[in-house]
Amino acid sequence: MISLHSGEFLEIDIRKLMIPSERVAHVQVGNNLEHALLVLTKSGYTAIPVLDPHYKLHGLISTPIIMDSILGLERIEFEQLEKKRVEEVMNVSVPRVKVTASIKTCLRLLVNHPFLCVDTEDGYFEGILPRSTVLTQLNLAVNKMNKSDK
Ligand code: AMP
Repeated sequence: MISLHSGEFLEIDIRKLMIPSERVAHVQVGNNLEHALLVLTKSGYTAIPVLDPHYKLHGLISTPIIMDSILGLERIEFEQLEKKRVEEVMNVSVPRVKVTASIKTCLRLLVNHPFLCVDTEDGYFEGILPRSTVLTQLNLAVNKMNKSDK
């Protein structure tokens, strides 16, 4: 049983761990699917946030969602990539937390999601919190705890 008695990990401010919005690959609601697929492929990520011009978060778009939306009965309808817009097919159920959320809340949500979107109280996108970043910090805390127990 892990007991993080030092409390250090649980007190981390998620603003210190998140990737800030300016470094997050994203698309805009009005972009077509061709553009979204280009950004996803170039960035190497399978899912990225969908924002509006005011940096409000609207959803997530992923390669599987795009491929599914252009799947016809007998063939993949590649011509739809240019016609359809991101907002028509994006997933609006976004794993998200406020900048003031505790690391404990984030850890619980990250069990089921590879990253969380972080936004302000007014819904403006601030960045993302990847699972790997939080696990790296947790690993550091556990190692530190083990050393101090010896
Ligand atoms: P990682 O834990 O670094 O593998 O990131 C997990 C997921 O978070 C990735 O698969 C992406 O969907 C998302 N992600 C991480 N970094 C970025 C970024 N800079 N821009 C957009 N999405 C990202």
